[in-house]
This record gives sequence, structure tokens and C-alpha cells, in this order.
Amino acid sequence: MKAFAHLIVSSLVAYVSTTAIQVDRRASPLSVALTASGNTEVKVAVTNNGNRPLNLLTKGTFLDEVNPVEKVSMYAAGGSKKVPFEGIKIRLLTTGLSADDFVLLGVGETKEVTVETAALHSLSDGGEFDVFAQGYIPFAEEGSTELAGTLPYDSDKLSMSIDGAMAATVAKALGKRTVIGSSCTGSRLSSIRTALSNCQRLASNAASAASSGTKLDIYFKSTSSSVRNTVSARLRAVANDCGGSGRATTTNCNDPYGGCSSNVLAYTVPSQNFITYCNLFFNGLPALTSTCHGQDQANTVLHEECHAPGVYSPGTDDLGYGYNAATRLSTNQALNNADSFALYANAIQVNC
Ligand SMILES: [Zn+2]
Repeated sequence: MKAFAHLIVSSLVAYVSTTAIQVDRRASPLSVALTASGNTEVKVAVTNNGNRPLNLLTKGTFLDEVNPVEKVSMYAAGGSKKVPFEGIKIRLLTTGLSADDFVLLGVGETKEVTVETAALHSLSDGGEFDVFAQGYIPFAEEGSTELAGTLPYDSDKLSMSIDGAMAATVAKALGKRTVIGSSCTGSRLSSIRTALSNCQRLASNAASAASSGTKLDIYFKSTSSSVRNTVSARLRAVANDCGGSGRATTTNCNDPYGGCSSNVLAYTVPSQNFITYCNLFFNGLPALTSTCHGQDQANTVLHEECHAPGVYSPGTDDLGYGYNAATRLSTNQALNNADSFALYANAIQVNC
């Protein structure tokens, strides 16, 4: 999930520097504590303070210890500048998850993961950094792998003083890009072409609807002119890229970064504007759904396009997946959430 007109960037930056994203801590049974370890490691400890066990989704979330996804957000320059993220953002099919994709956190229990921030962020300039872990994490009930909802989490700010030269010696989670561009062939190529064409149409129609403020109050919590402009500008840029005139991204069907594990539909490497579609994208999704807030190939492409800063900068993050999580976000959060755009485009298409 990152791009706004320049005016919006400045207002977002001001917002981030003072409050970060501010989710409602009292509404959540989860508390998250961050501690620094060594030069660039951060230990993230999540505790279940509620009155029942929680099966928290790990795949693609801040508890993922396998995939190089973004677990913490880092800011430089007194909180005003988000540090570029160099890992991947994955999109899951939200049905058919396995027990391995979750961690069970009993009442009062704490789970700790260690994040090597230098492997996932550009820290070689060194200096003072503000670190946060915040967002919404999907969960299932104990003994189930069916998603039951999402829980907010929001750490305190961790201040870190980082030696840039030492950070530069840490191996990156992703190697340099290898072969790209010609990996979609045969039936996959025709599916991708259809998906890009549908993405172009969805994004273009949604951009027009956003310009006139249609349904923006539901998905972005505002119909102000700046929100109309921001939503329509990003969607217009996505429509251009999907339509082929932008060519800001590469569209791929191979998996050079190893992100296509079970239930992963697609992933984006924002720092490289690299988007790839996994087997499940082709086998597990309809080309175009007629279900309100359903996942399909077209809105998956649209979602991934929203992560790419080359399409519209900054690319968005993943703050809330699916209708229930996405519509709990504030305006600024929704503007920075890929699925808010995908859900909005679907709602315009299906007329939810
Ligand atoms: Zn995403």
C-alpha cells in the first residue's frame, strides 16, 4: 500500500509526524511493544489482553517471519519522511487459509518477532529514526482458519539512532531484479491481458465517480474536493498504467522473489514497480466478479497497481484488507490503503 498530489503529500506528512496513524487502542485486545536490539533490529512483541484466545493471521502481516513484508514503518527527519520500503507487499485470497498461516495467542500470551529493519528499508544514511508497528490484523477464532474480522494494533513510537555504514552491511531481503517482463505466456498472457483491460475500465469508471464524489463517504470517509481529487487522480493513473499508456510497472507471472506461497494471489515490490501474479491468481479468481466486495482478477490488478510509486507516488500501504477493515479506516488511512481503492472500484462496477 502509497500517491497523492503534492498538496496532499504535505498534509499527510504533517499528519504522520504528529500522530502516526492512530488506531483506537481501547477497542483492541492487542498491545504491541517495540524494543531496539543492536543497530537495526527491532523486537515486536504482541500481547493478547482480551478474554479469549485469538488466532492471528501471520501471512503477509507484521507477524510474518517468512516473507519480506513490511512489519514496522520507519520515519526519518523528525517523523516527516517515510523511509523507503524495499520488500514485497502480498495480496491473499482470504478463503482457504491453512493453520500454518496463523499463530494462536492465548489469553495473556505474548508472541515476539524480530525484524531486521535494514534488510527491508533504506537506512544507509543513518541518523535518528521513529519506528511504529500499527494497522489492522485479520484474525480467526480458536480452532478455525476462517477470517472473523480484524483487530487494530498500535505501538508506541520507538526512537532509534542508527549507524548508516553498519546498516549498509546488512544483506537485503530481496536480491536484485532478475528476469522480468516475458514471463506471462499462453493462457496466462491472455488472462493478464483481460485483467489489465478490466482494470483499466474499473479504474477509469471509478475515477469518474470519485470526481463527482459518488460513494466516497463510505470508502474514504469524506467527499471533500481534495479527497475527490486525490482518489480520482490515483485511479486515473492506474487506469493509464493498466491501459498500457503508462508503462510504469512491469507485469510478471514468474516468482523471482519467492513470494507466491499458498493463498498468495499476487505481490508487488514497490521499490522496483515490479508486480507479479501467482498461480492462485489464475486458478482461484474470476476475471470479473459481480459480488459486492468480492475479489477478482481485475480488482487484484488494481490493488497491486496502487502499491507502485511509479504509477502514482507515493504508493499505498496495506492498512486494512476487505470491506470491514477498510471502512474502519480514517480518511488519511484509506487514502493510503490499496484495498480501499480496489473495494471502491468494485463498488462502482457492481453498484453496491
Ligand atoms: Zn496489498
